Amino acid sequence: MKFNMKLNVIIAVLMVTSLSCVAAEPVPHWDYEGEAKPENWGKLSPEFSTCENGKNQSPINIEHALKTHHDKLKLVFKPGKQEIINNGHTVQVNVDEGNTLEIDNEVFTLQQFHFHTPSENEINGKHFPMAAHFVYKSKNGDLAVVGLMFKKGKPNLELAKAWQQIPTEAGSTAVLNQSVDIKALLPNRLNFYRFSGSLTTPPCTEGVIWIVLEQESNVSTEQIEKFHSIMHHNNNRPIQPLHGRVIID
Ligand SMILES: [Zn+2]
Repeated sequence: MKFNMKLNVIIAVLMVTSLSCVAAEPVPHWDYEGEAKPENWGKLSPEFSTCENGKNQSPINIEHALKTHHDKLKLVFKPGKQEIINNGHTVQVNVDEGNTLEIDNEVFTLQQFHFHTPSENEINGKHFPMAAHFVYKSKNGDLAVVGLMFKKGKPNLELAKAWQQIPTEAGSTAVLNQSVDIKALLPNRLNFYRFSGSLTTPPCTEGVIWIVLEQESNVSTEQIEKFHSIMHHNNNRPIQPLHGRVIID
């Protein structure tokens, strides 16, 4: 009887294991260096073909922007719980609901923010040593990303709240003891460039509204090095062609 029960448990475990193997369609491995580097993303899987064939890919070099009279950035911030994750490609902070961006009469809600060293977008042909991407999603599933550049300077006190619990191992997470005040992380002036682009990681999905802030926040050399040493290498996709896209200022 006991033996049978054990056997049943083993069979049940085996069934669950094999089911999960079938259910979890493995995402093709991609990376920033080696065989799975950005230049090869489009060839790694048919799901990633937009990385190669897309005509509205990010990041871009922001220059020759068209001056317009556009609305100010409509951002609302709400304090809440934040969870920091090292996913092997970046360090990401997942946020609670309530942080919104309104653009073209559509409300987008902040999902997470994460970091790149160096910056992915360039401004007038220049990288910044680090950038943050704030990823917003609307009810319809539309995406908008707000890009924040960092320049080298004093230690960033808001970033420090996340950095003191930055997970060094890929796959590990932590709930932040002190949540990052996102408003305080951003510069005072919120002038921005706007253009149409894509996710900068596979599957490189297009139709993303990109908002890149013109003013930078500061970050210390030590803070950049801490991130970089955990990532082990740069995590920026190379600049993509504009293909006739217009950048609005
Ligand atoms: Zn990003």
